[in-house]
Amino acid sequence: MDFTIQSALVPVEQGYETVDVQIVDGCIVAIAPNLNLVGTAVDGRNKLLLPGFVNAHTHSPEMWQRGMIPPTPLELWIAELYEFEPLDPEQLYLSALGTAVETLLSGGTSVVDHLVMVPGRELESIAAAVRAYREVGIRAFVGPLMQDEPLTASIPSGGVEREHIPYQRSTQESIAVLQEAILQFHKPDEGIVILPAPTGLQLSSDDLFEGFIELSDRYTLPLHTHLLETKAQQMLAHEKYGCSAVEHLQQLGFLSDRTSLAHCVWLDDADIAILAETKATVVHNPLSNLRLGSGIAPILKYLRAGVNVAFGCDGSASNDSQDLLEAIKIGSILHNVTDFDYRHWMTPREAVEVAALGGATGLGMADEFGSLTVGKQADLVLYDLKNLSLLPRTDPIGLLVLGRPTQAVDSVWVRGDRIVTNGSITTINVDDLRQNLFDRSQWVTNRQSTKIAQVEAHYRSVMNLPEQMRGYS
Ligand SMILES: [Zn+2]
Repeated sequence: MDFTIQSALVPVEQGYETVDVQIVDGCIVAIAPNLNLVGTAVDGRNKLLLPGFVNAHTHSPEMWQRGMIPPTPLELWIAELYEFEPLDPEQLYLSALGTAVETLLSGGTSVVDHLVMVPGRELESIAAAVRAYREVGIRAFVGPLMQDEPLTASIPSGGVEREHIPYQRSTQESIAVLQEAILQFHKPDEGIVILPAPTGLQLSSDDLFEGFIELSDRYTLPLHTHLLETKAQQMLAHEKYGCSAVEHLQQLGFLSDRTSLAHCVWLDDADIAILAETKATVVHNPLSNLRLGSGIAPILKYLRAGVNVAFGCDGSASNDSQDLLEAIKIGSILHNVTDFDYRHWMTPREAVEVAALGGATGLGMADEFGSLTVGKQADLVLYDLKNLSLLPRTDPIGLLVLGRPTQAVDSVWVRGDRIVTNGSITTINVDDLRQNLFDRSQWVTNRQSTKIAQVEAHYRSVMNLPEQMRGYS
């Protein structure tokens, strides 16, 4: 279906202009005042039109554990996460729907789902998430989360010899699953991209990285992984490789202009230079980094070094929402405390560009979407400027980023399909989704964690924390 969005406010170099935008065959074909009507007319008056943002890193299944895990650093948080009963594919379908809906209603048109799978049912898991994203109509990059080393290996040894139980799925099996997922589900022309995405150096062997790089080359796919989220991972990389993790990934051939790297909190200046040189993208997940105490990623340094940056929510067990506008707000103002020179601070307009074009760039798709440009695909969001949270009339982008917009999204187009109208998702029944999420969960009133004890003593010792244990139960 074609559309003409009439009289919408769009940002231009020197402020804003009121224009019409024609969408034909999924693409933006004209942006100018007073265009002829093609297709369906959409009233853009008193509305702001922006390119859709990219939720450039999340784990949709974590929705089932949101709000539940106590304040702990990543290495202990993940031990808690592993303690939950494995989900079933139907739950993965529902949490992917929920993630898509929250992303769309906070300005996102794409999601990068680093997908936690049901052990032994990997292809079913991928199928469930892909089905959800196709039904909603969001553009999805599904990266099956794969590792070939056990959880205990993710904590630095500190020179202590430790035995690790081998991981349940071999390296070769993981590569085979990924290849099959690409063959079955990779349909870029239909908005679904399968993304080779090893969990991260803390849980992945070089063989796994190399196998995934090979598949990325063979099928021209973007690459994705976690990188140096915590100080412990920085220590682990030096133990494992004798050099920094970034140097090692560069040597493996993992870094390129279609590689996106989630977190990047613990990089030094030499690492930053490598990212700039290889044109790899940093995905900034500010809320998760705060929640887990991982640190403040040096985003202003990245931007000044010419490194491309995108925003992500990260999984709902470490955020614990999928509100992209919230991640963009915190992810831009957080850095003001890291640099006294306010001229380096991120402006709301820069934040919008990072969220949209930065996200598309990190996936190697900046020519296809990510800006209001004639010829690009129509991944667009129309915000209602008469929404109370965006009033009174001031600077629309300033208030959208720095304020607390609530239910301000009026319409969303993905690849030219309008999937949100008058603030409601039109492709699925969100009331049914809410009921299903409710029915398949219960209030947690007395949760006891045991798995954390297996790693906590070693973690405290290697991170130089006092021995005395804090009670988690
Ligand atoms: Zn993550």
